[in-house]
Amino acid sequence: MMRIDIATLFPEMCEVVLSTSIIGRARKAGKVEIHCHNIRDYSPDPKHHRVDDTPYGGGKGMVMQPEPIYRCYLDIIRQSQSVPYVIYMSPQGRVLTEGRALELREYPHLLLLCGHYEGVDERILTRIVDEEISIGDYVLTGGELGALVLTDAVVRLCDGVLAADICFEEESHMNGLLEYPQYTRPEVWDGMAVPDVLRSGHHAKIEEWRHQQSLDRTAKKRPDMMKKYRKQNLKQR
Ligand code: SAM
Repeated sequence: MMRIDIATLFPEMCEVVLSTSIIGRARKAGKVEIHCHNIRDYSPDPKHHRVDDTPYGGGKGMVMQPEPIYRCYLDIIRQSQSVPYVIYMSPQGRVLTEGRALELREYPHLLLLCGHYEGVDERILTRIVDEEISIGDYVLTGGELGALVLTDAVVRLCDGVLAADICFEEESHMNGLLEYPQYTRPEVWDGMAVPDVLRSGHHAKIEEWRHQQSLDRTAKKRPDMMKKYRKQNLKQR
């Protein structure tokens, strides 16, 4: 079973999300093990539990100190008896994709480090971090939302988390295309009817229609993805 540890100053923020819905059920069912750790608990300062300080060289804001993070990392190794692959959530990292999420689900143990304030002391990155991952080209106040996004994207791909493999294999991004449109009851809503083909019961025709819809909407909504898809398909021929 995959294990994910999240090192953060706000574990309660992560716990709420990770105890809810599909991820919460997966944890309860033992499909994935997730632990959130408060970096403040590892502060060497017993009185104030300090974890940050002003930046050398001047400048605004505070920087998270390396020692509490390092102690937290060592404790995770001690508790789990395994050395995790460490990801620092950072606007400077490579932007997360479905492809990277698929690769990450193969790792037995991930540790997601969440920065706050101005970020973390560079030396902890040098010492323990294997990779930096961003969830988009914008700056957040902390790494928690990024760690939650990454955890959700990876865990839903783990065995037994979704009802059946089909649930994610047809979804947007899995094959380089966006998913076809979905409809449910009622058959007519606000004057708009469900496309006839979906009610025909003709599976081959439905498949064909869905594939064409995927192509059309990818070309329309994400021409960048369509360009890549065409290139890839030409190569495979
Ligand atoms: N001073 C840092 C810089 O310019 O690169 C930004 C620090 S940011 C205000 C605080 C923390 O939020 C970071 O340490 C990181 O953990 C997290 N963070 C911010 N933007 C992020 C993003 N796009 N993806 C993932 N984590 C992010």
